[in-house]
Amino acid sequence: MKDIAIIGDGFAAAAMVAHLLRRGIAPSSITVIGPRELGKGNAYGCDSPFFRLNIREDLPIIFSDDPLHFARWAQEHVSDSQARTDAGYFYRRQDFGRYVSSLINHESQAGQVEQIKARVLGIGGVDGSWNLELDNRSVISANQVVIATGNPPPIWPCEVSQPNSPAGASHLIENPWTGSAFREIDSQENIILLGGGLTALDAINALAGRNHLGMIYVISPRAAFPPAQAKWQRKVQPNWPQNLTPAKLIRFMRNHLPSAPTASSEWQCAWEELRPNINTIWQQFSLQQKHSLFKRLGWLWNLYRFRASPQTIAAYEQLRARNQIEFVLGRAKEIQCSETKVKALLSNGLDVQGDRIINCTGVATDPLLKSLIKNQLAIADPLGNAIAVDKTLQVQNVSGGQWNTLWMIGPATMGSLGDVIAASAIAKQAEQLAVHIFG
Ligand SMILES: Cc1cc2nc3c(=O)[nH]c(=O)nc-3n(C[C@H](O)[C@H](O)[C@H](O)COP(=O)(O)OP(=O)(O)OC[C@H]3O[C@@H](n4cnc5c(N)ncnc54)[C@H](O)[C@@H]3O)c2cc1C
Repeated sequence: MKDIAIIGDGFAAAAMVAHLLRRGIAPSSITVIGPRELGKGNAYGCDSPFFRLNIREDLPIIFSDDPLHFARWAQEHVSDSQARTDAGYFYRRQDFGRYVSSLINHESQAGQVEQIKARVLGIGGVDGSWNLELDNRSVISANQVVIATGNPPPIWPCEVSQPNSPAGASHLIENPWTGSAFREIDSQENIILLGGGLTALDAINALAGRNHLGMIYVISPRAAFPPAQAKWQRKVQPNWPQNLTPAKLIRFMRNHLPSAPTASSEWQCAWEELRPNINTIWQQFSLQQKHSLFKRLGWLWNLYRFRASPQTIAAYEQLRARNQIEFVLGRAKEIQCSETKVKALLSNGLDVQGDRIINCTGVATDPLLKSLIKNQLAIADPLGNAIAVDKTLQVQNVSGGQWNTLWMIGPATMGSLGDVIAASAIAKQAEQLAVHIFG
């Protein structure tokens, strides 16, 4: 029987391990289950030098008592002449992944944390004695389990007519997060990006970095990308009104934000001043209010909460100035692929043809979490995207209570707890949980 099992091998799992070790838990008590090197995950396990952190160097905070830990490490270990901008240093994501892995090695000097290179397919058992079914056909048992399965990689959002040959299939890039697919792209190709968020901007930066000459068509319901990060700092604490409703919240936010452009320091300072309280407010809303707020504010929140690195936006501006970027408004309903071309058919009747299509539509649904709901071990969260947890990160069960020894951290807690996606927000959860279990 394992003592503490952590499911997942990304940043969240690594932050959990780091905080457990800092609280004096022996490495031999911790077992990580995940297929790849601990600490990199989907977000930082990329091999493209053009994928950058979208936050400056002082913001990915793992230890609240040492906020500049990463900034110092990067100064010493990263050679990246492009990192510095007027808004701060924006390092490559692969370097951040390297940092997290080296941190784990450093923290576990006293002994190795066991990692089982497998995926967990299902969880069974009872509180305090969980059975984890692995994809290598084994089952391991654990007293306490932390789910940290992160961002499920994107899957096509519509029907795709698959070509018969591997050559044809190479025109379809379903998961661009590792960055490796960009190496195969010829600079003359016309590229279709499905989705207009941060993944599409990463793709544009990777294409620009490889001197792309062909067209880039961005299929998205809105012709807007997140702005670049400006230099910002929180100056005032907003005086939030009592008894907020979604409508009052939106009104208050609107009044707090200046009319300056969203890419300006002035606007971003005000925006960031609003963020620290959002999770507490979200948690106080009823289910209906959460739905209403998400419907009205969700897309705007997604657009502005992080912004992109200045380097990424500069690459976008450069290609736009050369008329290589065109937005096509709408949503794809089908993708057709021949041996040499791809075509996206949109629900508004438009179609776009290109040499390759890249899926930039964001996270899919987590099959493990889905199985927990199906097997009545957990309930869906308020947004229906993941499973519900309470404020102490305990997974909620179908009887209206929560499991004492089953927790979840990371982006999958967003529906329950609010804005939990940035590295620092996840590390805070890991710290909270380490203190809560073993404090
Ligand atoms: C492409 C991308 C870029 C991002 N960039 C930034 C950024 O620049 N700045 C920022 O603050 N945040 C960024 N984020 C947000 C990100 O959510 C967090 O920063 C953080 O990295 C999430 O870590 P995680 O471990 O929860 O998830 P992930 O990075 O998704 O890692 C989860 C890991 O768990 C494994 N796993 C999943 N299911 C199972 C299973 N059933 N069994 C075993 N293992 C499993 C996966 O294979 C994966 O390796 C980014 C996210 C993505 C997807």
